[in-house]
Amino acid sequence: MFEHDDHSVNRRGFLQTGAMAGASALALGSSTAVLADDAAARKVIVPTRVLGRTGVEVSILNQGTWKSESLNRILRFAYANGIRYFDTAKSYGSEPGIGQWFQAMPEVRKSIFLVTKDHPNTPKDMIARLDQRLAALKTDYVDLFFIHGIGAGYPIDSTDWPKSKELKDTIAAIKKSGKAKFVGFSCHDAKRAEYLEAAAEGKLVDAIMVQNTAWLDKNTRLNKALDACHKAGIGLISMKQIAGPNPETFLAEVPKHAPDLMAKGLTPYGALLHAIWTDERFASVCVSMRNTDQVSENSRAAKAFAPLKAAELESVRQSFLASRPSLCADCHGQCAEAGGTKAALGDITRYLTYYERHGFRGDAKRQFAALSPEARDWSGANLEAAREACPSKLDFASLLPRVERDLA
Ligand code: SF4
Repeated sequence: MFEHDDHSVNRRGFLQTGAMAGASALALGSSTAVLADDAAARKVIVPTRVLGRTGVEVSILNQGTWKSESLNRILRFAYANGIRYFDTAKSYGSEPGIGQWFQAMPEVRKSIFLVTKDHPNTPKDMIARLDQRLAALKTDYVDLFFIHGIGAGYPIDSTDWPKSKELKDTIAAIKKSGKAKFVGFSCHDAKRAEYLEAAAEGKLVDAIMVQNTAWLDKNTRLNKALDACHKAGIGLISMKQIAGPNPETFLAEVPKHAPDLMAKGLTPYGALLHAIWTDERFASVCVSMRNTDQVSENSRAAKAFAPLKAAELESVRQSFLASRPSLCADCHGQCAEAGGTKAALGDITRYLTYYERHGFRGDAKRQFAALSPEARDWSGANLEAAREACPSKLDFASLLPRVERDLA
């Protein structure tokens, strides 16, 4: 999955960063010296990558925003730490705070890449929704406008939207208006491989932000869909990097399994970011950094980025496996095959994760109920064999009784 290098880290931005933060340290491959040099690190912008065929260089780390009392401080701190890509959405409640920032510092608007999102009822509905978003943001354009979380939550089947004529006409109208430079969608739906395939086929959208894991099996449908999008020039942005395990459990495991990365001065989350950035198909990673420590640590990790070696990547993956993940990572279903069952073990465990970790309790129950009786019946399955076959080593013997208790 790492053979693609069309969207490699922008060399100019990377070398400028290195020059200001300690070029000799970078040349020698020592990120520790860079991380130690706080004052210099704060002065430079984080490295950039080109966002697909848009040709725009975006920060490899982007600030996910949300409504909070600290928003104003976080925005300014992220900017001061070199982040030039900010992500918001109607539902995050952070647009008014970002608008206030623009009013207080008008020079900021043109120097950042601004993304917002909304839930249109149809592709054409994006046009009116975009006007509302601009009013909330107190700006006359955004760089990228997303259909937010395309998938099961939409009132009508949206699977074909990414290749529809209606979306094509809508994107043309939006670009002509100058209100958004680029258009795409975000997606963390179970069927995200299908949405990405449609996008690659349609070649209409400029960018997609997608739930991602650094350990996606290269033979999975989702991985192939990511390849197809990348090949089609669609910019890719990673999100929800630790959607499967309990984040705290995962972060506690990283120092045990990846001591070499800790010795480089990375935090556990920084190690995960390096694993994600090692996949050069992704131009940027969206992280909802909630305090200034997280902004400092992650922007320093970005400035010190160098692709992980295979053994380092494996050490982060081992941390992930040790954190007892519950979310299916989207392979072709070898768990059920190995366990000798027709039960949709991947879907079932995905719904359990939505219920337990993501707070979508009603949706999780509804989606579970919508499965056929056969897909819900794991009786007689060899759960240990299923676990052994699963690339994420999901512990079905522990997870499925919770499904029985909470979703059935
Ligand atoms: S083997 Fe694991 S990743 Fe593959 S479908 Fe089953 S649960 Fe999902």
